[in-house]
Amino acid sequence: MKTGKLYVSLILMVFMPLWLHSQTENVDLTMIYKIKQEGNQNSKIEELATGLTDFVGPRLTGSSGSTRGNEWAKKKMEEFGFQNVRIEEATDFNRGGWDNLKTYAAMTGPYYANFACNPVAWTGSTAGLVKGEVILVDVRSESDLEKYKGTLSGKIILMPSTSSTSYEISFQPLASRLTDEQLLQLSKESAPAGGRRPGQPFDIAAMLAQRLLRNKITELLKSEGAAVILNNAGTYNIPRSNGAGYNSGDKEPIAELNIPMEAHGRMERLIRQKVPVEMEVEILNKFFPNPKVYNVVGEIPGTDKNLKNEVVLLGAHIDSWHGGTGAADDASGCIVMMEALRIIKNLNVAPRRTIRVALWGGEEQGLNGSRGYVEKYLVDPKTKDHKADYDKFSVYFNMDNGSGRYRGINLQQNDMAGPVFEALLEPFAPLGCSTIAIRNTGGTDHLSFDRVGLPGFQFIQDEIEYGRGYHTVMDTYERLILADLRINAIITASLAYHAAMRNEKFPRKPVMNMPVQGGPGGRPPMQ
Ligand SMILES: [Zn+2]
Repeated sequence: MKTGKLYVSLILMVFMPLWLHSQTENVDLTMIYKIKQEGNQNSKIEELATGLTDFVGPRLTGSSGSTRGNEWAKKKMEEFGFQNVRIEEATDFNRGGWDNLKTYAAMTGPYYANFACNPVAWTGSTAGLVKGEVILVDVRSESDLEKYKGTLSGKIILMPSTSSTSYEISFQPLASRLTDEQLLQLSKESAPAGGRRPGQPFDIAAMLAQRLLRNKITELLKSEGAAVILNNAGTYNIPRSNGAGYNSGDKEPIAELNIPMEAHGRMERLIRQKVPVEMEVEILNKFFPNPKVYNVVGEIPGTDKNLKNEVVLLGAHIDSWHGGTGAADDASGCIVMMEALRIIKNLNVAPRRTIRVALWGGEEQGLNGSRGYVEKYLVDPKTKDHKADYDKFSVYFNMDNGSGRYRGINLQQNDMAGPVFEALLEPFAPLGCSTIAIRNTGGTDHLSFDRVGLPGFQFIQDEIEYGRGYHTVMDTYERLILADLRINAIITASLAYHAAMRNEKFPRKPVMNMPVQGGPGGRPPMQ
């Protein structure tokens, strides 16, 4: 405890009515010093980063890579001396298992050019190496479908560019740090931030019409028996890594590839100028039944006889898309959370509450792992009754905004947690991490806790190569800033330690009989 704070607090106690007096946070600067030393001098961030990206590879939900990742994480947690380490089932997974075993595509006429590409997850294989002329299926309205009937069997199909997949030169920097001005702005926000940025009008009717037409085109391609579909991979001229809305047991969708916009653009322009384009493509994917979504969990047990069954939870999602190695999204978060717990473990402290780390599966398909955890331990999904651990839950910290340094915390509108974070983050002001924003953020695993009334927080982070790295083939080790991750682990370790030591659990939002607030959170694009 710092004497300055105590003094102010005493004055408040004397002169203020009781209801204005908040608990004085006990900030253990000696422990913060030790955490910093361990986190800086003995950091395992680099080892963890190469392990979860290069050694394990991509970790698409339900793929064999996700099994590899879970086993790697379990082994690391055991090496670090965490207890009750386990890979536990969270939920079923309706899309089934899927591995990409081979992808090759090249233009062979009018001249040879090969290019990088990425299959759409949960789409099918080609019948070996498919060769032939590329057909541009340019459908602007339903009436255009007619002219393609009877012409597409066994063909390589190029889907045309759209307004959102046409290249525009960017004059923005690839990566940026939040400026003092921007942080000040964040701290002043009083309403939930809107999800869309200025200059992006959103026409839902047009979007639905577009989707309907796209479904009709897919139906046509399916009934005609097209060999393979090629998409423009879109902005940032990097093949997007995404998935089809496939349900386990359905017929395998037609093989589908996302190709770089330069390669796509070149072929589309040639075809539109009546120059025949030929390609060869081979894709081999494997489907397998009944995978589950798993979480990897480990902990340092609490030691206080009254508080040891209460839990401070740290988490991030271990699943990724399949194109890169899921480095920024979200190996970075997993690495930070594992390192934070390792730091605390290595300092041999005896936390009063249990500090647990959970690496979630299936986040990208709808927060499956964290939702499964909540349903297993905290709230019955059917009756909504609280389970025994609900009252023993203190707080959840989530990291899923890429590799950027922590700059503060989003309160998720939990006013009561504001003073706690103010005190706990104050020692990290010199590292640039002390902004407290009242706003809601969405899009990732802290929501699974927030939506059942438990304190779940996501950090404010610098946006590092967000668009280029997220859900693309370029989300690899190169996207990581190890120095930032080291700092994030130190700050997480300190928050977790203090949350585990304070007298009270983290403040919760009071239960109120009001409709749940909807609308988009202020989330950055895609997590
Ligand atoms: Zn993510």
